[in-house]
Amino acid sequence: MKKVLSFDIDQTLNVAKTPIPDEIAELLTKCLNHFEICPISGQKFDQFLIQIVDRMKDATPEQLTHLHLFVAQGTQYYRYNLKKKDWEQVYNYPLTEAQVKKITETIEKAAKELGYWEEDKLKPGDEIIENRLSQVTFSALGQKAGTEEKYAWDPDHEKRKKIVARCKELSPEFEYEIGGTTSINAITPGMNKVFGMTHLLEELNIKKEDILYFGDMTMPGGNDYPVVQMGIDTITVRSHEDTAFALRGILGVL
Ligand SMILES: [Mg+2]
Repeated sequence: MKKVLSFDIDQTLNVAKTPIPDEIAELLTKCLNHFEICPISGQKFDQFLIQIVDRMKDATPEQLTHLHLFVAQGTQYYRYNLKKKDWEQVYNYPLTEAQVKKITETIEKAAKELGYWEEDKLKPGDEIIENRLSQVTFSALGQKAGTEEKYAWDPDHEKRKKIVARCKELSPEFEYEIGGTTSINAITPGMNKVFGMTHLLEELNIKKEDILYFGDMTMPGGNDYPVVQMGIDTITVRSHEDTAFALRGILGVL
């Protein structure tokens, strides 16, 4: 019997960058009674609150102590403090300012050279490259672009593969992963989901056999692939509908 259910977020629990649907919120809340629940994604803490926690309105404070937020690929970890009735940061491993600067310049140069720097398509106040503290994220159309527009931008990953290839030439000291629908995450080597999962094992005092992981990017080069390589049992999903289907099955036999 698994002790921990761990989830990628974008395309696994939601439609990329949007709050999780009601059904997923209900299923995750039920799962809190039986498992430790660990979402892990490249996004920032505030997005974990907006997309997941705020949607799990029916969860009691006691239940929330079984929800573990592995933010920015698990380079930051937050858990619920029952006394304070609030989330607290357990650890944080940020990039240095110099690393952020170098990555930002690299991605911008690569995207511009290839003609994929779509500044003219940004909504006001939006940005293509975002410093997420433990990683730098390129979102081709910004954070605020519409879902359909994002899906249409690079459905076969070809644009992002080219950007990644050029970035690797320019600054090979960093790693670049394709995620979400328009994103590339740049990290220092090893600061991928393996880092998060390794800390998850430590923080929750469990073995990797205790984890069942759900992700949509489990193919080589995808941001869930490092989890597969670690030897963690993984379910590949195409969307949150697949995840809901699997969770209904798991809860149905408990
Ligand atoms: Mg994903």
